[in-house]
Amino acid sequence: MKNEKQLRTFKVFAIKEGTVIDHIPAGQALKIIQILKLYSHDHIVTTGLNFPSKTLGKKDIVKVENRELTQDEANKLAILAPTATINIIRNFELAKKFLVEIPKQLSKVIFCPNPKCITNHENMHTLFYTKKEKVGLKLQCHYCEKIFSQNDIKEYCV
Ligand SMILES: [Zn+2]
Repeated sequence: MKNEKQLRTFKVFAIKEGTVIDHIPAGQALKIIQILKLYSHDHIVTTGLNFPSKTLGKKDIVKVENRELTQDEANKLAILAPTATINIIRNFELAKKFLVEIPKQLSKVIFCPNPKCITNHENMHTLFYTKKEKVGLKLQCHYCEKIFSQNDIKEYCV
């Protein structure tokens, strides 16, 4: 028997095949859709905003039909939603569940907040090294070598 919480996540948002990204901090769902480029695919994407959550207070949920996220794709969410859980659904059942892992490097995910950084002036990809802190992440730009916190990041590569 599934408990009530699982029913709320999986039944109200029932999909036959695909991915449910759960435990997204409230307000990040639309950025996640941008980062994963979900809007540009033919897949049906449903978002739920501001669900009550014991751990987060409020959470968003993103549901993508007929697409299974990989661990690498999920890891791109580390700066926005380190708490996210990825649920792979096959034939209406939970087939696989995994967590976002913080990758050592982030390539082509965020723009450098330093306006003088060469990546903001040349047509080139960004590259950041991540460092886990007690709370959140620090990000160091490979090119200008400046170190940023998650809150400094305003723009995402889409
Ligand atoms: Zn930079």
